[in-house]
Order: sequence, then structure tokens, then C-alpha cells
Amino acid sequence: MKGMCYICNKTFSKAGMTKHLKTHLKDDGDTKLFHIMVDGLYQPQYWLHIEIKANAKLQDLDQFLRDIWLECCLHLSAFEIDGVEYHSMPEGERGMYFKLGRVLNPRMEFYHIYDFGTSTELRLRVVSERTGKIDKKVRILARNEPPDIRCGCGEKAKWICPICLVEIEENFYFCDECAKEHECGEDMLLPVVNSPRCGVCGYEGGKYD
Ligand SMILES: [Zn+2]
Ligand SMILES: [Zn+2]
Ligand SMILES: [Zn+2]
Ligand SMILES: [Zn+2]
Repeated sequence: MKGMCYICNKTFSKAGMTKHLKTHLKDDGDTKLFHIMVDGLYQPQYWLHIEIKANAKLQDLDQFLRDIWLECCLHLSAFEIDGVEYHSMPEGERGMYFKLGRVLNPRMEFYHIYDFGTSTELRLRVVSERTGKIDKKVRILARNEPPDIRCGCGEKAKWICPICLVEIEENFYFCDECAKEHECGEDMLLPVVNSPRCGVCGYEGGKYD
């Protein structure tokens, strides 16, 4: 479960990365920033560290998560923070127009759900805050390296079968060769991508891949 630091390009374990990033993140500006760690609630092998401006809105964080890990067909999403839900398309509920600085505090854990049907759930934790300077609203600090997923034959897996995944068949990952012979049909297969939404709905990878 190693990942790469985007600041110095070195690799660290998931546990070591939080500590390592502290060596880079010093107060060096006057914009309040949150360091947030994100991982798959049920797929902790997918993880990210990001830095985001405290004056960014929840919808900015939602958009970033969609872009890197989630978006397949514009499903609804929501955050749950301190027992309160914030929805992407509110119908009487709270929306995502709140600034992060108003709803987040250091060491707080919160959740994100994308798609209320075939959902992908993420856990987020505010690691720390600082005052610094970044160009964009949000930047990636570190990301897990793609897990080494193998086809039943031992080759590197390139494809996942969403039908076999849902039915919890023994083998749902395939290399190019074995994909051609898969009984559900080659057209059904989705690419193996570095995301907790791999193989779900029509997910084919994010803008950052
Ligand atoms: Zn580094
Ligand atoms: Zn979808
Ligand atoms: Zn299948
Ligand atoms: Zn194979």
C-alpha cells in the first residue's frame, strides 16, 4: 500500500506518508489551508493526501473527488460532517455551498458518499491546518500507487467484470488475453483503474490518471 509524495517524488507506506508530509508543510504564506487525507471506507488501499484552501466550498472538494476517483454518470453525492449531511443537489437538505473553514476543524473525521445506488463511500480526515500559499484551490500531496492486481493466469489485470464483481465470483479480474474468453462478454468489462470505484457502474478512470 505504498504511495508517492508529489512534492519530492519519494515513496512511503500509507502510515509513513502522514508523518513525511509534515516535513514539507510549513507556515509560508497567509492563506489558511487544510491538509486532508482521504481513503476508501471499504477499500483503504486507495488513499490520497490533498491540501485545500479553507475558503474553498464543499462543492469544490466534491468536484475534486469526482474528478480523481468517482465520476461515471453524474450521480448524486453528499458529505456527512458531524452528523450533518450536505447534498450535491439539495431538495430541502443542506447544499454544498458552505466554505470548508466553517464546517471543518483539525483532526475531524467525515464522510463522502457518491451515488446512492451503487455507492462509493470515502472517509476523510483533517490531518492539520496551516497558513501557506498554493496556486490552485486544491492540490494533491500524495497518492497510493496502483495496487498490483493479477488475472487468474498470473498476468497483470487490465480489466474487471462488473457482473462477476457483484456476484462475488472467484475471479473478476482479467488480463488482455483472458478478457477475450470471458463468458460475460468483452463489451461488459471495465478497465482496471486506480480508484475505489474501479469496476462500479460505468467507471473508466479519472481526469488525473
Ligand atoms: Zn515528500
Ligand atoms: Zn454511474
Ligand atoms: Zn463476468
Ligand atoms: Zn489472464
